Amino acid sequence: MAAVSLRDVSVSYGQRRAVDGITLQVRPGERVALVGPSGAGKSTLLGLCNGIVVPSSGEVQVLGSDPARASGRALKRLRRRIGTVHQQLHLIGPLRVVHNVNAGQLGRWGPWRALRSLIRPLQVDQARDALARMGIAGHLHSRTDRLSGGEQQRVALARVLVQDPELVLADEPVSSLDPARAEEVMRLLCGLLEESPRRRTLVVSLHDFDLAVRHCDRVVGLRHGRVVLDLPADEVDERA
Ligand code: ADP
Ligand code: ADP
Repeated sequence: MAAVSLRDVSVSYGQRRAVDGITLQVRPGERVALVGPSGAGKSTLLGLCNGIVVPSSGEVQVLGSDPARASGRALKRLRRRIGTVHQQLHLIGPLRVVHNVNAGQLGRWGPWRALRSLIRPLQVDQARDALARMGIAGHLHSRTDRLSGGEQQRVALARVLVQDPELVLADEPVSSLDPARAEEVMRLLCGLLEESPRRRTLVVSLHDFDLAVRHCDRVVGLRHGRVVLDLPADEVDERA
């Protein structure tokens, strides 16, 4: 079964078609890059995958369910199996790193003020482990907003690692970073996919075509809400 399956999916905002009849299958374990200019429909496509965006027509299946039709509880369950990484890291600055790293397990919309009391010793160990793998082991109890931008990026990735999702959706995770740091974050992001016995699936939108080719298995090019390119990364050449 595909991890993500879109069949003839369109999303319209009034007259504008953000996604225009896309059919796309992502196999479990695959790392797929969505590339294309701003406005091509990358965010909308990612939004379809976790139910934030509802299709105007067509069928969406993610990890065996349809996020647009799932009930509140089923959608919550589905979203726990999906990890998200954004350009805005969605970390809660005044909280300590350990609490941010564990936030994913409580669901994105959990009452975060209660996090402090909900975190158990086992989770502290998991958080410490995840931070170590991201190379910032020493920051478990630091206040999150005292960390540098690069360190905060690692905290966001450690949170995904602890959540242990089957599918990772990343929307422009590196677009605000300089090339060296973008490379590093992509390396960490792809590395954490390998940490699980069942390899996790990644769908990531990227501006930088070279970055997509270097780090992903497959490159899907979008333009005006349509797929204009769909190739294994090792077959992409100067034509594109
Ligand atoms: P990308 O992520 O590739 O930049 P988006 O998916 O954000 O593209 O946007 C695709 C198109 O849909 C754009 O033309 C954008 O202006 C439009 N769009 C996206 N979200 C909305 C919205 N909530 N309301 C109206 N138009 C939107
Ligand atoms: P409250 O109602 O107590 O003010 P909310 O639950 O509405 O808090 O969350 C406030 C903000 O924090 C929201 O914008 C939400 O996006 C963000 N947020 C809430 N829970 C989490 C979480 N577990 N991880 C990351 N961000 C969160």
